Amino acid sequence: GLEARRVSAWFGKHKVLERVTLDMPPGSVTALIGPSGCGKSTFLRILNRMHEMIPGAQLSGEVLLAGQDIYHASQRPQHVRSRIGMVFQKPNPFPTMSIYDNVLSGLRLAGIKVRDKDSLVESCLRRAGLWDEVRSRLSTPGGALSGGQQQRLCIARSLAVSPDVLLMDEPCSALDPTSTRRVEETIAEISSQVTIVIVTHNMQQAQRVSHYCAFFLAGAGEPGGIVESGTTEQLFGDPHDPRTADYVHGRF
Ligand code: ATP
Ligand code: MG
Repeated sequence: GLEARRVSAWFGKHKVLERVTLDMPPGSVTALIGPSGCGKSTFLRILNRMHEMIPGAQLSGEVLLAGQDIYHASQRPQHVRSRIGMVFQKPNPFPTMSIYDNVLSGLRLAGIKVRDKDSLVESCLRRAGLWDEVRSRLSTPGGALSGGQQQRLCIARSLAVSPDVLLMDEPCSALDPTSTRRVEETIAEISSQVTIVIVTHNMQQAQRVSHYCAFFLAGAGEPGGIVESGTTEQLFGDPHDPRTADYVHGRF
């Protein structure tokens, strides 16, 4: 699992996250919800050390993967990012690279050598729910697929390095309902082996896919933080904070 402890973040002098503590247990799906600008994407990027790639970005606090600090001097950022994958809102396969090579494209950076590439490609595409649609045309460029297929290709690419955690930032917001359903099925299928953290603005989706939920909020000109976190059932069924109740019931 993944654990964030007292994480704060700044862009220059502008503080955008204030002391976020959150446990993301292994074998579970955690949904991050909250209005635009409250720091959800920033928090995700801190969870796999992408935040530090942004000029002027700073942070404090700790992130532990299976109890190990991912920011410890002994941890290479590249290695951390292969253990903790990210899928973005906009699908970003390599457009001119074949489907087959796209799936394998993360392996070199992760320092992983594979004997049977064919079977790895097949198993990743199967788990991403894309195999049946592409099995007869694996040499097609990734950019030739539909948006929903491209997103599932990106998920297959993330899975190829056997990550411990998969971070997903609004992975379905550019997808049609059918592709969305496919991605949700994939999440359900892989979540027993891969800890998943998903940002979504879709409250139905949060309830369908997640076991745990965290509600982020930022006051005007204030940094964002977690108002409330707990099981998804509790957050939606019996929220403790009135602001959570308002948000999950679409009142702001
Ligand atoms: P949304 O739901 O719209 O995606 P979010 O919750 O993901 O919003 P973030 O993108 O994390 O919010 O942004 C949090 C705050 O950090 C915002 O005030 C934003 O303007 C600021 N911010 C984000 N990225 C940068 C950056 N690269 N440089 C400066 N400020 C940034
Ligand atoms: Mg965002």
